[in-house]
Amino acid sequence: MNIHEFQAKQILGRFGAPVPKGQPASTADEAAAAFKALGQPKAVVKAQIHAGGRGKAGGVKLVSSADEARDFAAKLLGKTLVTHQTGPQGRVVRRVYVEEASQVARELYLGMLVDRKAGMVSVIASTEGGMDIEEVAAKTPEKIITEPINPLLGMSSFLGRKIAFALGLKDKQVNQFASLLGSMYKAFLETDASLVEINPLVVTQDGKVLCLDAKMSFDDNGLFRHPDIRELRDPNEEDPAETEAAKYDLSYVHLDGNIGCMVNGAGLAMATMDIVKFYGAEPANFLDVGGGANTEKVAAAFRILLSDERVKGVLINIFGGIMRCDVLAQGVVEAARQVNLKVPLVVRMEGTNVEQGKKILAESGIKVIAAADMADAARRVTEAIRA
Ligand code: GDP
Ligand code: MN
Repeated sequence: MNIHEFQAKQILGRFGAPVPKGQPASTADEAAAAFKALGQPKAVVKAQIHAGGRGKAGGVKLVSSADEARDFAAKLLGKTLVTHQTGPQGRVVRRVYVEEASQVARELYLGMLVDRKAGMVSVIASTEGGMDIEEVAAKTPEKIITEPINPLLGMSSFLGRKIAFALGLKDKQVNQFASLLGSMYKAFLETDASLVEINPLVVTQDGKVLCLDAKMSFDDNGLFRHPDIRELRDPNEEDPAETEAAKYDLSYVHLDGNIGCMVNGAGLAMATMDIVKFYGAEPANFLDVGGGANTEKVAAAFRILLSDERVKGVLINIFGGIMRCDVLAQGVVEAARQVNLKVPLVVRMEGTNVEQGKKILAESGIKVIAAADMADAARRVTEAIRA
């Protein structure tokens, strides 16, 4: 789960990280009031969407009066901002963040993430701040510093200073930076984060280290331990199909292909996606309805699949173990009636109550292409969308 910049800054600030003062605003008048409340000659107004690249896309502006803050907020709010991270459809700006402006001398990059290769949390840092870090990594990998944090030692000040020196930090900045890393690591562990990214981390003209931007992502499986963070979920920023799937406790991941797949069990889902690709088509999603799905859940899954207009064919591949094939068939029939099925539907099922399941489908009046096995199912659905 991702959160907004101002929320990430609030969390990091609570753990002692240096962040500028600021206030979120949902209306232009609130933005003007926020400018006045800061009581500074200059402020920065920033669009709050779950995507970076706002600066280049015109979503960040330095303002010098409450009126200017109001005007820029009015221009942003309700508008769609397209950045290199949003995709061409962009994101609607529903809130801005008004924060005190900083005088920037240097922009650095600082991140912390679960590093699967190292099996630890790693610090990623670079002197090339304020830029697209993926691009820096691709073009000038030598400018990326990666340091795993040994969980038994924690974020030691030795490691903090080592990274600070590698970034060319001097004097008081070195200890400020090491202390920031300590706060960041504590925040990372205690919130079950999977990523914290500060881009840019700046050195101000008066020599202070400051987090000018912040992004945090959390491990969904840890969210039950953090009701306060779970509250920050913003459904406007999520794929509506994934939000709907989460309501029914379905494991659903949206992909770019055109074959909708409904499967029970993550392993079988992966195998189904593989075999669809093997026969030359692309899966539109990963969807695991789980072991003990009831009719309602199956129907919801089917509706979610078909809500994706790119889906040109559906492949249902079920192995009835705990899941019974008649329950599945009932769910499919109900959902197909609700949605007025227009694309070819291929069903392969095997296992518990398979005969009853086949009978329900056969008597439903819905056009179902029955498949003998997985390969047959994948072949038939690929042929059906080409026909
Ligand atoms: P992003 O483009 O979505 O990653 O948004 P950022 O928060 O990183 O802002 C983009 C850029 O705006 C930064 O790299 C800075 O160069 C600039 N910026 C943001 N806040 C300030 C500020 O207070 N002072 C100055 N001088 N520049 C700022
Ligand atoms: Mn940024």
